[in-house]
Amino acid sequence: MAGVTFRNISKVFGKDVKAVDNLNLEIRDQEFMVLVGPSGCGKTTALRMVAGLEESTDGDILIGDVRVNDVPPKDRDIAMVFQNYALYPHMNVYDNIAFGLRLRELKGFFWQVSHWGEAQKIKADIDERVRTVATMLDIEKYLARRPKELSGGQRQRVALARAIVRKPKVFLMDEPLSNLDAKLRVQTRAELIRLHRKLGITTIYVTHDQIEAMTMGQRMAIMRDGKLQQCDEPEKVYANPANKFVASFIGSPPMNFLPAKIVQEGGRVMVDAVDFKLPLPEGHGAAAMVGKDVTLGIRPEEIDDADLVSSITPTEFNTITAKVDVLEPLGHEYVAYIGIGKTSLIATIDNETRIKEGHDARFAINLERIHIFDAVTEEAIK
Ligand code: ATP
Repeated sequence: MAGVTFRNISKVFGKDVKAVDNLNLEIRDQEFMVLVGPSGCGKTTALRMVAGLEESTDGDILIGDVRVNDVPPKDRDIAMVFQNYALYPHMNVYDNIAFGLRLRELKGFFWQVSHWGEAQKIKADIDERVRTVATMLDIEKYLARRPKELSGGQRQRVALARAIVRKPKVFLMDEPLSNLDAKLRVQTRAELIRLHRKLGITTIYVTHDQIEAMTMGQRMAIMRDGKLQQCDEPEKVYANPANKFVASFIGSPPMNFLPAKIVQEGGRVMVDAVDFKLPLPEGHGAAAMVGKDVTLGIRPEEIDDADLVSSITPTEFNTITAKVDVLEPLGHEYVAYIGIGKTSLIATIDNETRIKEGHDARFAINLERIHIFDAVTEEAIK
């Protein structure tokens, strides 16, 4: 077992495509780390550098304490699972799983009659390992089938089995669920988490899907334009996004952003969001920045129907009246699009609500959970 360290890692393609820009990140031994970010942010390139499929332009990659920049991929003791599974089409499932083991462990024994007994022992050991992982992943029924005779979900499990059977130090997974339908994705997500808990193998998992990142990662590293934006436990990133980009990327429906100014009024420091004002919570860092242009961020679940008994207690300071433009029922809650002056907000409202489309209603905002970002740098002010 081993952790993985990116130390000042950069990768430039051609003259000026900086795919990864001075990445510093430490993935702990046995950790499940998700690299997440929009298309083109450099997450696949980062993963491929750990695998040795791409050379870094600058910096070091360590697996455990060993610098692996010059170690060939086959000697890095990693296993990679790709989006397209990359199974051998002409081999059955059993051979697909066993192939890597045979190559590694039977090497040198095949043609030597004197080692025949030894080779039989290794073959028996491989057989046991293949059958154990096939059982673990519930694919033992399909061992004799070819990949084309399997569903997408079954193929994905074969790809996982092939990776697991080698007991590598590190798993690298590049969007491994993206070819599965929505239901199977959720199911396989849970299976992968269970498998990680059971095997405890250090895993780096790449995805552009913030829900996968939130639900699977013990920690998540959010990237943008090759640069690391924030790395922390999902709940911490959600509650305290480091900047406006992270705040907008994590959470669905997304955070509301409003241009605002910090003002002082009647002895209170307020955030003036053009169509309404909210007092800053006690001790907020922005309180010392009267006159500053900022962006106010409010998550949809921090706005609630003020006439409902909910976690947000309405007061004279946190309540606004807004018109309900659209109300989308989701079953367990509504997504409400509400308007106040020229400002539009999205709110998620409990399905007990009596608010109606086209009518005004009162909404309470959780002041303790508002976010303030610098209007220029977009960094969070805390
Ligand atoms: P996606 O989610 O779309 O796979 P990603 O975040 O994994 O995106 P990368 O594939 O790492 O992003 O690509 C990062 C940047 O590097 C992109 O601008 C991409 O076009 C560029 N890039 C990647 N591979 C190469 C290459 N072999 N040659 C030139 N540019 C490349």
